[in-house]
Amino acid sequence: MPYNISIKKTEKSKVEALDFNNIPLGTTFTDHMFICDYNNGQWQNPRIEPLKAIPTHPAAMALHYGQAIFEGMKATVNANGTPMLFRADKNATRLNFSADRMGMPHVPEALFVAGLKQLVALDKAWIPPQDGSALYLRPFMYADEAFIGMRAATSYKFIIIASPAGPFFSKRINLWAEKKFVRAVDGGTGEAKAAGNYAAAIRPTELAKQKGYDQVLWLDAAEHEYIQEVGTMNIFFKIDGKFITPRRDGAILDGITRMSVMDVLKDKGFEVIERPITLSEIREASEKGTLEEAFGTGTAVGIAYIQSIGTDQGDIHVSDESPVGLEVNNTLNAIKTGQVEDKFNWMLSVE
Ligand code: PMP
Repeated sequence: MPYNISIKKTEKSKVEALDFNNIPLGTTFTDHMFICDYNNGQWQNPRIEPLKAIPTHPAAMALHYGQAIFEGMKATVNANGTPMLFRADKNATRLNFSADRMGMPHVPEALFVAGLKQLVALDKAWIPPQDGSALYLRPFMYADEAFIGMRAATSYKFIIIASPAGPFFSKRINLWAEKKFVRAVDGGTGEAKAAGNYAAAIRPTELAKQKGYDQVLWLDAAEHEYIQEVGTMNIFFKIDGKFITPRRDGAILDGITRMSVMDVLKDKGFEVIERPITLSEIREASEKGTLEEAFGTGTAVGIAYIQSIGTDQGDIHVSDESPVGLEVNNTLNAIKTGQVEDKFNWMLSVE
């Protein structure tokens, strides 16, 4: 069904004030936002408006009971200046997976994509053209019904905002293998992109940073031995020439970069295995000299190269270089900016 999105444009764009060579991360927003209301069992009044604060009732259920989910994705421009979205259908699927887990309504994929396309087309002057830069898009949904009591809300807002992001020069990261706090358990909410998951990760991340590490390496809740994710990224190890990534076991987010990296690695001739991975196995591989490289994968940074893992039994050295990770990152960036053929058919043109 085609959606009739009403558009109210800003009177004066703020894009001229943006220094594209020096974009502050996460604090700059484009001129417009997409917004849609869920009432009486239906999404209503899809519209684009100048970005502004939204009045919120103090009893809005998202503030109390946490029905809030989000997505993260990027728009890039190709050499002709055409804006493109990367695997937007996968974000729509994941948003609705998260919605199911949190008792929230689905956003039809056609509405999700129509809202994204309209917003990106209208704010396309905000897409940084430099290699590795992008317009970060943040679709999200929250319960805005004013109600005190524990049940699914009956009214929600679905909103998309956009924030330009400069190229991310990833320094090699050192991880802390966290054994006290856990991110997710099978049957919990870790597979959903639920706001509360991130709230619960903030304190452990701060503590790891106080110890001098960059990110938390999340381990399973029962044995504190099985590796799940790193920070807000999925994780890959290269051992003895093969890539291994933790199998999705109900507690790991289905990363879109993860699924794409698996395809790119296979295309480059590597074997990629999804299976449980323990910290002891990584320590042994490091000691034997078979641990060749490791990296985190996610929309925000692309690929983050891992230097070492700190544990309560001493540091595990991973590697000083990540040649394959670097190559995969370059391939992904080249696909996103149309410099190589989109052989996986991942890009969606906005115009
Ligand atoms: N794990 C977590 C917990 C995340 O928040 C993210 C970012 N969405 C990822 C993994 C990576 O997912 P993606 O590649 O889709 O960005």
